[in-house]
Amino acid sequence: MNILLIEDEKKIAQYVTKALNDAGHSVVSILRGDEGMVAATTQPYDIIILDLALPGVDGIEVLRAIRGRSISTPVLILTARGSKEDRIYGLDEGADDYLPKPFAMEELLARVNALIRRTGGHNSPILRIGDLVLNETTREVYRSGTKVYLSVREYGLLNFLMRHPGRVFTRTELCEHVWKSALDDETNAVDVYIQRLRRKVDEDFPVKLIQTVRSVGYTIQEAVASGMAVQTAA
Ligand code: CA
Repeated sequence: MNILLIEDEKKIAQYVTKALNDAGHSVVSILRGDEGMVAATTQPYDIIILDLALPGVDGIEVLRAIRGRSISTPVLILTARGSKEDRIYGLDEGADDYLPKPFAMEELLARVNALIRRTGGHNSPILRIGDLVLNETTREVYRSGTKVYLSVREYGLLNFLMRHPGRVFTRTELCEHVWKSALDDETNAVDVYIQRLRRKVDEDFPVKLIQTVRSVGYTIQEAVASGMAVQTAA
């Protein structure tokens, strides 16, 4: 499982990460609430483990942002605030389970396994990059709330890019991963589909999400990090 851990106490974050790694899970550990909120609302995870008292943004605010965007990823709250009121508050805001500190690692693993069982271990079907939303269940795509109509190939390409935001893929990689086969003229084919996607997804919007990385390939991401050699033009 792909787990997001938002916990500011480094020692606990390290212990939990190691225990989850040992149990076969991959973990993204984030020490701040604001950064955790961005990760939780833009990247797909199977489970989110969330501390309540966090620097930047409070854990409850992070939880509200997640549920406010209809992201149904199970959330396990992990906090020293063990009072009954806090527990009910967290569950009211959409948390799936609650574990007061201090806790035994076996207990945490048991709760995580219970959440995986309960939810079937599926990723949230909703992928988001900024205001671009893709629903893998209905295969619908929206940009700024407006429905975008895509062909099967355009959808496949966009879905793959959105599953790996910020990762740069070569044309050959895109061909192999998206269409499972090498097309006759794969370089040209990928360029053609990227162009069509841009027309439908980016053209009418000030923020361009599909990025060309010169002499490498393509990626999709919300904001271009400074210092990266990324061009928005094809
Ligand atoms: Ca804390």
